[in-house]
Amino acid sequence: MPDMDAVVDVSNVCWATDIEPWATLPQLARLRRLTDAWRGLYGAETRMDLVVDQSLRHKIPAGERHEYDRMCRAGELVQVPYADPVVLSMAGEEGLKVISRDKFIDLRRRYAWIEGAAQRFYDWRGERGRLSFVPSGIVPVSGQVVSRAEEDKELTRDGLRDRKDVLGFAWKCVSRCAVSQLWPDRILLWPAMDRGTGTPLCPDPNCRRPLMKAGARKPSRQIVIARRDDGTELVRFPLEAGACVEIGRGALTHGINLDGLGDQHRAAVAAVSRHHLLLALDDRLVLSARDVGSSHGTELCRWGGQALGPARRLAAGEEVRLNGPDQLVLAKVVVVRTSGRRYSPGVVYPDSGDGGGASTAFADPNQ
Ligand SMILES: [Zn+2]
Repeated sequence: MPDMDAVVDVSNVCWATDIEPWATLPQLARLRRLTDAWRGLYGAETRMDLVVDQSLRHKIPAGERHEYDRMCRAGELVQVPYADPVVLSMAGEEGLKVISRDKFIDLRRRYAWIEGAAQRFYDWRGERGRLSFVPSGIVPVSGQVVSRAEEDKELTRDGLRDRKDVLGFAWKCVSRCAVSQLWPDRILLWPAMDRGTGTPLCPDPNCRRPLMKAGARKPSRQIVIARRDDGTELVRFPLEAGACVEIGRGALTHGINLDGLGDQHRAAVAAVSRHHLLLALDDRLVLSARDVGSSHGTELCRWGGQALGPARRLAAGEEVRLNGPDQLVLAKVVVVRTSGRRYSPGVVYPDSGDGGGASTAFADPNQ
């Protein structure tokens, strides 16, 4: 018998309405049914590590909380603020199977082994009261899809996601901070948010003063700039229709200064030229790019449906249009791509409550 030791994404299982007891709310009893079924197939001694989001405790029936607390005290249940990375770390370090319906899209970059280990991820089927297990169907996804999933998590975390009153406007900072020097009339980055009051704040960590409105935001596309060596995101920002932005190093008014995104990244981006790339978004939200005379060049990688194609160096002055998940690589060290998100101001997102995008800040790029 293959080694079927596993780690269980407990919240995911407890929310599964196709496991008894039949109810719409999460049930701890579903976890017991699932672990019994797995051990019934693979042996009573099979190890099963159970990791749970701490938020589950308040969602299960009150009558199950005593058992939940007992399992936590006994070390049977590992309770953490956010289970997914813990599940994946345990699985990665110890070669465990993963029982979860989650595809972990937002964590694909951080846990790069996932796509090469699809056979270790299990979903379940409930038929005639019996549970069986099937591959959960992990398939490779483009960097753009990963980026979008990360962004959903990020916007939710920052409290920005449904804030059309914030996302629908451009903002400016009137203090004399680095951000206001760089973008005096409208800040290129998303605002930071005061979690307590919901006030949009200057994204400069040394400023954080309340911002002033600088007019309605035009339809925008989100741009992501990342390190190529380890995938670390350096910055993401919404580029408005009709706007252009220069990417380079040094004091680029209205541009993106890669030197200013953290001392820990400075060496990694050093090969990027002072004036390297110009990105422009036209009124139809088509993104185009042009190398503005960099020393080490810009390469274009077209998305081929399954993976990125070979890199092609842009000629001097050549302008290219970027489609979907295409990527640009600056000086072989920095990746520039769109996140897949488009953002449009309130008019596109009526508060109709019909689910037609009203609850999300971003529209599908294919519409
Ligand atoms: Zn400021």
